[in-house]
Order: sequence, then structure tokens, then C-alpha cells
Amino acid sequence: MKIESAKLRASAKGLEECPSSNLPEFAFIGRSNVGKSSLINALTECKELAHTSSKPGKTQRINLFTVNDSWTLVDLPGYGYAKLSREKQGEFNREVSAYLTERENLKQVMLLVDSQIEPQGGDLSFALWLQECGVPYSVVFTKTDRGSDSKTANHSGQFRAELEAYGLEPNKIFMSSAKTKKGRGQILQWIEQQLPK
Ligand code: GDP
Repeated sequence: MKIESAKLRASAKGLEECPSSNLPEFAFIGRSNVGKSSLINALTECKELAHTSSKPGKTQRINLFTVNDSWTLVDLPGYGYAKLSREKQGEFNREVSAYLTERENLKQVMLLVDSQIEPQGGDLSFALWLQECGVPYSVVFTKTDRGSDSKTANHSGQFRAELEAYGLEPNKIFMSSAKTKKGRGQILQWIEQQLPK
């Protein structure tokens, strides 16, 4: 898929503020610092569409970007930011889970997992929760350029094994790098395949 246009349509506090739309939505989520903003910018070829920031957990809004006037890329707040107060974390979880479980045109969740760190319990629990709720999801390993190939293969392999052990079956698993653009073509092609003809 060639990206012709990508623009911010709305920055919503929660599901209620998300504008109604017929366009299929693909929602990107992951732990803070997983590389979500970088990947979104790489996918859309917009340097600053999603704001990469050195302060993890800063983006707390649901940002909806219309791409090629044919689908919506949804940037969900990062989870697992320890410094967020319990109250804020609860509010955030409620808003994000309402979006994920009630948004009618949500087509797929892209769960981002850092390939450079050991598998994290939080990522696995999140995948379990998605599957239990019947939300279609795929896994995207990020930052594959960063470490050695064996380290990347090791971490991603361990995470895949854990998914399997819990009977979890993501629709797709991608290896990606915002830096080298690895996986970009495959992710976009797969999104394109799911758009109405
Ligand atoms: P977010 O908090 O999930 O949106 O993460 P960011 O996109 O802001 O990235 C967090 C940090 O990881 C930043 O320092 C990025 O430069 C770095 N990063 C993100 N993606 C990649 C990647 O593909 N390769 C490498 N080497 N670094 C990355």
C-alpha cells in the first residue's frame, strides 16, 4: 500500500469522544517505550504524526489518524507506565478497554512487543485479555535492528512459546524496525488485504 495521506482526525479522551466512522480501524498498543510512535511514523512515512517522546506514558489520548481516506490508524495510550497514579491507571484502563471491546469498526489490534527485552508478563496478560474478549489481534515485535540477531530471535521465540503455551493465537506475527523499515511493507500489505474492496 502506498501512503497518499495521513492526517489526525481526532484526539479523544475515551470511546465517547471517538468520532463515528465507517472506516476500518487498526489500533496500535504496547508498553510505554515499546517504539509505538516510531513505528507509526515509519508506517505512514510522516516524521511527526505520532509524537515520540522521551517521557514514557505521556500520551494518554486515543489519537485517530485517517490514512488514504480509506482506513484509520488508532494510536492508543501505552500501558504499564509505573509512574502513573493508581487512579489515573484505572481511568486509562477503563477508557482503553471500552474502546477495545465496544468500538464497532475496530478491525484489528496490533500489539507491539519489544524484541530487545525478555518477554514481559504484562504483554502476555494483555494478549490473554484480548483473546478472552474476542478482540482480533496481531503481534508486532519492534526494534529488531537494535540487538544481535540471536538476541532478537531468542526473545521473540520465548514470547511466541509463551503465547502457544497459553493457547493464544494472534492472527499474524510481524518482525519490525522503525529504523530500517523492516516489516513495514508486510504490515501495510496485510492491512490493505483487510480493507473493503
Ligand atoms: P513509544 O513510547 O512506544 O511511542 O516509543 P518511541 O517510538 O518514542 O520509542 C522509544 C525509544 O525507542 C526511542 O528512543 C526510539 O528512538 C527507540 N526506538 C523506537 N523504535 C526503534 C527501532 O525500530 N529501532 C531502534 N534501534 N530504536 C527504536
